[in-house]
Amino acid sequence: MLQVSGLTKSFGANTVLHGVDFEVRRGEVVALIGPSGSGKTTVLRSLNGLETPDRGRLEFADGPSVDFTSPVPKATRTQLRDRSAMVFQHHNLFPHRTVLQNVIEGPVHAHKVPKAEAMARAEALLDRVGLSDKRDAFPFQLSGGQQQRVGIVRALALQPSLLLFDEPTSALDSELVGEVLLVLKELAEEGWTMVIVTHELAFARQVADEVLFFDDGVILERGAPKDLFTHPQHVRTRRFIDRIL
Ligand code: ADP
Repeated sequence: MLQVSGLTKSFGANTVLHGVDFEVRRGEVVALIGPSGSGKTTVLRSLNGLETPDRGRLEFADGPSVDFTSPVPKATRTQLRDRSAMVFQHHNLFPHRTVLQNVIEGPVHAHKVPKAEAMARAEALLDRVGLSDKRDAFPFQLSGGQQQRVGIVRALALQPSLLLFDEPTSALDSELVGEVLLVLKELAEEGWTMVIVTHELAFARQVADEVLFFDDGVILERGAPKDLFTHPQHVRTRRFIDRIL
């Protein structure tokens, strides 16, 4: 579905990505793990145009193809943004809108889906994550886990080809993490293509098809979870895993 090649990015004098290459196949879950500051979020944000690399390419099988060496045309940027939907660490729901209004906002305003259709789709999705009874609630009336599930539904409602998750559980109290990971696991089983930045290594091990270990702006090691977690090739990977798992 997506080929990522040679992503390079500096913030001022600080080069944070030193040429990152990987691919994402349709229906696959790719987990990005590694120490804080190693460049995972910058890669994720680059995939949907929230961050602009200095060099490198993104090639979606069904378009667009983006070369960051030259300025990216506005139309290509829009295409790139529409390919994926991002779920953030903090849900970023509109506080003064109900759950249903939050979910239909993107489809109705950005994608011009008729309101009745957007509402029907939103209600079906809320039902799937067990939140039908919260459709008229405001975000402050929900638990952190419920808010994050609404955040996920909001991303699904955009019908993206690719779902991007930036540490979706790290802002949650530990007892609420499980319900959100369960939704992610179900989405993986349903065949959604997902790229997930996560510190939940046990989850990555269970759900990911491929794990990329980032260290200092490069992918130091990659592989199927059973190989990478059981037989890491690099001492830095081993140390990271041992410290967290
Ligand atoms: P990770 O997700 O692995 O924790 P990040 O991609 O968030 O890593 O950050 C990689 C590096 O880039 C860090 O050193 C961080 O401070 C720096 N960085 C990220 N975003 C910005 C920004 N907008 N301005 C300056 N530096 C940034």
